[in-house]
Amino acid sequence: MADQEPLGRGYLLHEEIGRGAVAVVRRATSRAGGPPLAAKLLRPEYASDRRVRELFLREEATLRDLDHPGIVGLRDLVVEGDTLALVMEYVDGPNLRDYLRFRGGRLPVAEVAAIAGQTSAALAAAHAHGVVHLDLKPENILVMPGAGMPQVRITDFGVAVLLHDAERGAPGGTPGYTAPEIFGGGPPTAAADVWSLGLLIAELSTGNTSMDPGVLPPALAPLARDCLAADPRQRPPARRVAAYLRNADLSPAAAAFPAAPADMPPAQAAAASAPGPYDTRLRPGIVPAAPPPPTEPAAPPSRWRRGPLVTLGVAVLVAAGLAGINAAAAAGERGGQAIQQVSVPPRVTGQTPATTLPTTGLAAPATTSPAAEKLRVTLAGQVEDDAGTLAISIRDGKAIAYVCDGNRVEAWLQGTAKAGELSLEGEDGSAISGTFDARSAQGEITIEGDTHGFELGVVKKPSGLYRTAARVRGAQLNGSWIVLGDGRQVGVLTRDGVPAPAPSLDVTNRQVTVDGFTLDTTSVDVDSGEGF
Ligand code: ADP
Repeated sequence: MADQEPLGRGYLLHEEIGRGAVAVVRRATSRAGGPPLAAKLLRPEYASDRRVRELFLREEATLRDLDHPGIVGLRDLVVEGDTLALVMEYVDGPNLRDYLRFRGGRLPVAEVAAIAGQTSAALAAAHAHGVVHLDLKPENILVMPGAGMPQVRITDFGVAVLLHDAERGAPGGTPGYTAPEIFGGGPPTAAADVWSLGLLIAELSTGNTSMDPGVLPPALAPLARDCLAADPRQRPPARRVAAYLRNADLSPAAAAFPAAPADMPPAQAAAASAPGPYDTRLRPGIVPAAPPPPTEPAAPPSRWRRGPLVTLGVAVLVAAGLAGINAAAAAGERGGQAIQQVSVPPRVTGQTPATTLPTTGLAAPATTSPAAEKLRVTLAGQVEDDAGTLAISIRDGKAIAYVCDGNRVEAWLQGTAKAGELSLEGEDGSAISGTFDARSAQGEITIEGDTHGFELGVVKKPSGLYRTAARVRGAQLNGSWIVLGDGRQVGVLTRDGVPAPAPSLDVTNRQVTVDGFTLDTTSVDVDSGEGF
């Protein structure tokens, strides 16, 4: 039956649900049961095109390493004769292009912020893995409408690069979505995706791809303007866009469209509509105590399978394909660079143009004075992508950090905080790199193999880091806590190595009660040196 074709040994193919430049997407199911799947099948006309096959395989290699709730999850690769298919999680909803059409061509500001915020968080995760999407556009964002804000997943990694390489015409169906420097032959960088994000914000808000941020509401105008900066180095990193959108002021005044006259020049209109929240909001220090927005669900732990899953074991063919990809990358072909080369916009030096608001902590001057080497400070806040909470205590050039998700994931790290630079390493390959000064710290943390951005603000005692270790009724207990500036706590207690959310800590008495036993805790104290 046409709607019950087998795919490899493990899957059944059902109806077509989408069609792209080189692939047909069909609903699929696993013979072993489980949730619905989507199989992206290389179109037959490309079956013998070696380069297309290679890049299709590269999409698999790219997705395999990306583990983020905003990126379509890869389940399997099927290689069988001429058939090449990526088996993915099925996203039950239209792509954003169709969704936009159903919704009359434009969306309310809060929904734009939710969709663009999730998209930028997903891109930030990809960029942290050295992956640039390069074809971000509404067709490649899948939308799952729900009771609240819709959830989105980015799809179609890798093939866009193919379209550049293969010179089959302009990439994608919406030429305007590709950053100008890419069309100019410039190197593909993460900033190119940020440009597409800027255009996405503009199109979702206004219904067209006019690049005039002056016509956007104040809540979004300065951000869109920065994303659409002609110079890629002036664009904020995607993680900063995500952080901004998470905390954006969506009050009626900020979300209202400006009454700028239609003939006002773009720069003037942008200035008129920009009250200037952008610079301050992008340096939030600790993300406010508000619960995380419902639009960014935590990834279900079981959703992701790691490692290549090559069905039917046609490993030789896959190896040949991947060898081809490596060779292409080594030869410096543009497609290879596109995946492997990511440049975070460098620090902006010199005079910042008046129309470009300063962007970021990453561009903040490093602290290099000798006095800074004597800095004693604790900084804490959220890790981006909802990856957890992080606190770093710095004392005379030495740094101790703890990160956890309050449930299962945790790591202690140690290292240096010198000349404005943070460098820490910890358990299970975790690592932190970034910059700091007396007021803030920002950078990236790698935990469980994934890298996320962070921005931290100063916290004062009794906020900071606490830990305990004790044997209770034959079990080894190890507890660690971060107490945030607003008094919230997050911690993990392991019992014979098995992690669980930590019980509440009595900060005043520095004690915790576990199994009816009261245990003392120690702190990491930057003043006394306790814990260093
Ligand atoms: P191509 O790489 O050939 O451009 P895409 O990956 O963009 O193909 O997929 C084409 C279309 O198929 C998408 O716009 C979307 O409508 C649908 N689609 C793709 N992946 C999924 C998925 N995982 N779940 C549901 N629909 C999907």
